[in-house]
Amino acid sequence: MFKNLINGEWVAGARVSRNINPSDTRDLVGEYAQADAEQARAAIAAATQAQHAWGLSTPQQRFDILDAAGAEILARRNELGDLLAREEGKTLPEAIGEVARAGNIFKFFAGEALRVGGQVVPSVRAGVGVEVTREPVGVVGLITPWNFPIAIPAWKIAPALAYGNAVVLKPADLVPGSAWAIADILHRAGLPAGVFNLVMGRGSEVGQVLLDDKRVNAISFTGSVATGQRIAQACVARMAKLQLEMGGKNPMVVLDDADLDVAVAAAANSGFFSTGQRCTASSRLIVTEGIHDRFVAAMAGKMKTLVVGDARTKGTDIGPVVDEKQLAQDLEYIAIGKSEGAKLVAGGEALEKNADGAPGWYLRPALFTETTAQMRINREEIFGPVVSVIRAKNYEEALALANDTEFGLSAGIATTSLKHATHFKRHVQAGMVMVNLPTAGVDYHVPFGGRKGSSYGPREQGSHAAEFYTTVKTAYTQA
Ligand code: NAD
Repeated sequence: MFKNLINGEWVAGARVSRNINPSDTRDLVGEYAQADAEQARAAIAAATQAQHAWGLSTPQQRFDILDAAGAEILARRNELGDLLAREEGKTLPEAIGEVARAGNIFKFFAGEALRVGGQVVPSVRAGVGVEVTREPVGVVGLITPWNFPIAIPAWKIAPALAYGNAVVLKPADLVPGSAWAIADILHRAGLPAGVFNLVMGRGSEVGQVLLDDKRVNAISFTGSVATGQRIAQACVARMAKLQLEMGGKNPMVVLDDADLDVAVAAAANSGFFSTGQRCTASSRLIVTEGIHDRFVAAMAGKMKTLVVGDARTKGTDIGPVVDEKQLAQDLEYIAIGKSEGAKLVAGGEALEKNADGAPGWYLRPALFTETTAQMRINREEIFGPVVSVIRAKNYEEALALANDTEFGLSAGIATTSLKHATHFKRHVQAGMVMVNLPTAGVDYHVPFGGRKGSSYGPREQGSHAAEFYTTVKTAYTQA
């Protein structure tokens, strides 16, 4: 049984959750302790107690621990990747890549701990000096989703610790294994008791305690729009600092002058890899008239070659959907698409078993054509391997369709025109823009986040993370 980490001790929970492999639902990954509200409050108390000394620790102490954690994650990438693929269902190469990303994030923020600087500014008053410095926010509550079980916790924990904050992490109920592995690594890396606490448990119970407790100075959340809105209300009510990363309905524009192979490779990756369960996945392919039919035929051809199967089997392109509930949601949207008049040209069937006969939550990637911007399948986040093609007359209409959404996380364009690529980068309403690349798949050392309904608050990752995990102090001195 894997326990929670509270004040440097491994603690059993009030309940136990069973972590099930979506590629083979007979396979139990492990049993994980579920904390209750009282244990969540104990974790907050431990973090509050430990934060002051940690905030005054030297950058070298913080560097050493974060660097050691990053090195261990990288050294164990194959083993931790296997755990991640087993509990979440993304393919083994994707899972190993995600683990490597987490390791690199810890290494990057180890360096950032050494680079925390400030400004010395001339005062407008004679004889007065002004210094602008950054200090930790205090205790931060981190609430994470199931689709990146190690990278998202890593990109919140590493900057939080690098800048001197204490952490209480509540990972997603479906994938506690990868979060537990980070807790174990940080604990053994020598982090003082209470600086990092892991409380696995229900969002409505453990998560809610983090939102309501005044000792938690800031909340960083990644997850769905509905939960994000609830979190925003709770944080604003008690004036806690807040950062939200939520859903997407990311467009990918394909222009007549695109290289067809590049466009199809980028679209298939964007739409279907990681079973479409990436917030940066592209579920709206906006294709201009001159290439539309060729593009659809090539996509359908490419989809026939994609192997759906056990996430850990060599040669699998698309693993299972994460669980029964998400599969039911994907199938419901496929039915909605059909009822709205969209044409299902490929895929969309659930498979009860994989090639080895193991039961799992499998779905063949689905492609709709003849869709319009107003259809629900083009407005609501499905979060599965379900993609629509929207026909556009020309570039101008394609750009307008790309921006016709409540979301604004990532956007892509496939084109050989420098003019259109340049215009698109400037005018698409998204936090991240990709030219001739999938809408998903980002570097670990630069800002990540969106605008409109996708994100709220300062950006995550890269040096920009300091905006959220520190607070600024301005000091005046009369010499
Ligand atoms: P979710 O909103 O259901 O859950 C996210 C987390 O919030 C979980 O840990 C959950 O337990 C917790 N939670 C639920 N209710 C809570 C409450 N009342 N108080 C506090 N915490 C609570 O999301 P999910 O299903 O785990 O993840 C899928 C969603 O995440 C998708 O919508 C996807 O787009 C989004 N996502 C966004 C990004 C991004 O960076 N923009 C990245 C990955 C996933």
